[in-house]
Amino acid sequence: MKYISTRGEASVLGFNDTLLAGLASDGGLYVPESWPQVGHSNAGVSFAERAAEVIAPFVAGEIPQATLVSLCKDAYATFRDPLVAPLREVGENRWLLELFHGPTLAFKDVALQLIGRLFDHVLKVQGRRITVVGATSGDTGSAAIDGVKACRNVEMVILYPKGRISEVQRRQMTTVDSANVHAVAVDGTFDDCQDLVKAMFNDVTFREQHQLSAVNSINWARVMAQVVYYFTAIEQLHAADSTSVSFSVPTGNFGNVLSGWIARKLGANVGHLIVGSNSNDILTRFFETQTMATTSVVPTLSPSMDIQVSSNFERLLFEMNLRDGKATAKQIGGFRSSGKLSVTSEQFGTWIRPVFRGQRCSDSDTLAMMSHMHEAYGVLVDPHTAVGLVATRACANPNEPVVTLATAHPAKFADAVEQATGVRPTLPEHLGDLMSRTERSTELPNDLSAVQRFVASVSATR
Ligand SMILES: *Cc1c(COP(=O)(O)O)cnc(C)c1O
Repeated sequence: MKYISTRGEASVLGFNDTLLAGLASDGGLYVPESWPQVGHSNAGVSFAERAAEVIAPFVAGEIPQATLVSLCKDAYATFRDPLVAPLREVGENRWLLELFHGPTLAFKDVALQLIGRLFDHVLKVQGRRITVVGATSGDTGSAAIDGVKACRNVEMVILYPKGRISEVQRRQMTTVDSANVHAVAVDGTFDDCQDLVKAMFNDVTFREQHQLSAVNSINWARVMAQVVYYFTAIEQLHAADSTSVSFSVPTGNFGNVLSGWIARKLGANVGHLIVGSNSNDILTRFFETQTMATTSVVPTLSPSMDIQVSSNFERLLFEMNLRDGKATAKQIGGFRSSGKLSVTSEQFGTWIRPVFRGQRCSDSDTLAMMSHMHEAYGVLVDPHTAVGLVATRACANPNEPVVTLATAHPAKFADAVEQATGVRPTLPEHLGDLMSRTERSTELPNDLSAVQRFVASVSATR
């Protein structure tokens, strides 16, 4: 499989180079040159084996199938539930897909546990070392760190805003005892951290010298790995050949829900895709008005969805432009300068209306849903999952089977859960001593040259 950029100017790459590149050199995102057909299987294989089957066409020609199977088995052996992504019934035609049984308790583990192993494999084959640099507002950093902590050819630097993430989130990053992991507390906001990372990537000399790479959600391999659980959820419901199953996805960067769209494209029996947003509702407004318009970010109870722009939307936009990279680049350029992007009624009617539904959810709706789930089903859900459930209630009809993606373990957002239900969820056993583990982190000012000096001092090429 070859990969092309959504902006049409970057060189065409194979899977291995796409994995290591993250962002394309023209600023676009990589997508496969064509969409293969995968279809459903009733073979009753494990999640890891199914993952290797679904992913196979995307790494064809670069990673031998036996290697892929073993990387998948290794990655998903870290999950506490043998099903990896089990379903839980919550009312008629309604299920939760529990994606939080991985090491850091959020759905990002599903992709990042595999990516760490893919990195290790590809770097060994290519005889290279890289420095992964990222910014996090919480969940991505810990999932990325856990995914790559055992990779000998990767040094990892994660910037987080000092004092602005939860204690569980911070400790999940600062207590990892691996010499190649460097958690950095920046005296600034998440946006400051992200700007520092962008500036390092834009400095071509620095980027090449230290072999910088990224694992944020614009990396194709993350989107690819997430496609798998849409297939397995439908197969668990034995719905492969019957009524289609709709999915409700609490959404930030549009990465997770895009994976659902791709699963549908590959032949999975996916019905509607319901996009749940918190008060940062740029996507809901797009579904209402055909126009994407940025506003400032407001903090909510579901912080992993507090974003201004959903960067993975560019991959869908590229399809809406019939894979015209120039047109997509022009649209994104206009969006950058004006903060507004509109699609035509024809594009909206062809690509959006038949598939997507969108709903916003306030913090008080989120709390009410968490309380309702506890009272009606005895289930504690985290605030992000609650946003998905509110969207399901608003957008689905009663006889439509809907799977809501449960994206975080309730104990990761214990304060909000306790506020809603009066019950404080406990951390799973493997994290029981998290609050007493030794922390290790570096504090740096919000200053590019200070951060660059630090990255240079730990870089994989030093
Ligand atoms: C990252 C995250 C999301 C949003 O996922 P996107 O792929 O950015 O849409 C939702 N819930 C939780 C718990 C997350 O960590």
